[in-house]
Amino acid sequence: MLDLTGKNALVTGIANNRSIAWGIAQQLHRAGANLGVTYLPDAKGRFEKKVGELVTPIAPTIFLPCDVQDDEQIDTTFATIAEKWDKLDILIHCLAFANKEDLSGDFSATSREGFAKALDISTYSLIGLSKRAKSLMKDGGSIVTLSYLGGVKVIPNYNVMGVAKSALEMSVRYLASELGVQNIRVNAISAGPIRTLASSAVGGISEMIRHVEEIAPLKRTVTQLEVGNTAAFLCSDLSSGITGQVIYVDAGYEIMGM
Ligand code: NAD
Repeated sequence: MLDLTGKNALVTGIANNRSIAWGIAQQLHRAGANLGVTYLPDAKGRFEKKVGELVTPIAPTIFLPCDVQDDEQIDTTFATIAEKWDKLDILIHCLAFANKEDLSGDFSATSREGFAKALDISTYSLIGLSKRAKSLMKDGGSIVTLSYLGGVKVIPNYNVMGVAKSALEMSVRYLASELGVQNIRVNAISAGPIRTLASSAVGGISEMIRHVEEIAPLKRTVTQLEVGNTAAFLCSDLSSGITGQVIYVDAGYEIMGM
């Protein structure tokens, strides 16, 4: 049985009720995990209020702002975990960002600044968070990140985010190789297209979803809760032999050639 009772899980990347991270948080909670949640702070405190209200039913025991571009905020997050929890078992890295102008049009038009920002937030952050998480994962652990097919194949408009996801998937393998000795497993879920705040910034997301509904073996795309179920599996002992992998939760779209 999938049981996460007694496990402490940090979930990053909840922005609203459409966030994949919210689907994951709900399934981890359902499986019995104790949750910590971080959100991206904004000047007016809107995210704090909105995310705070959303997560009330899952009763997080840690709720903190954490902009992954700010090392101080990351340090505060992990210092709080060290103070409040005896150990960390699960890290969910479920965030990404690229400038909107870099998510449509010519890939060759990507600016140096846009490239650095996309890779810093969407890829380096997994490394930065894992570095802090590993010393708190005293009984081993599971780190799960979110990728997309655009990191492996060319998807129109995905552009710089495709490069970020490619680097993310390779980071998963290097981290898995390093952290395996501590029984920390690192895996990625490559999710099919889902309508969220982040995906709406990618040009033509509605068309992408329609295409998947037509081509994928299951004739549909996936839901946040389906991704959450796979994340819960990857965080549980049921997946104890799996590390360094990219698991597709995409209604089978990835296998199709035509
Ligand atoms: P979302 O907009 O709900 O989540 C993105 C999150 O990233 C937000 O919570 C946002 O606050 C956070 N974020 C952005 N910049 C940040 C920063 N500097 N510091 C901390 N947090 C920051 O969208 P989503 O689709 O749920 O995205 C979650 C993950 O899933 C991303 O990695 C995305 O690439 C991936 N993914 C999404 C899809 C899809 O179709 N929606 C498919 C495959 C993979």
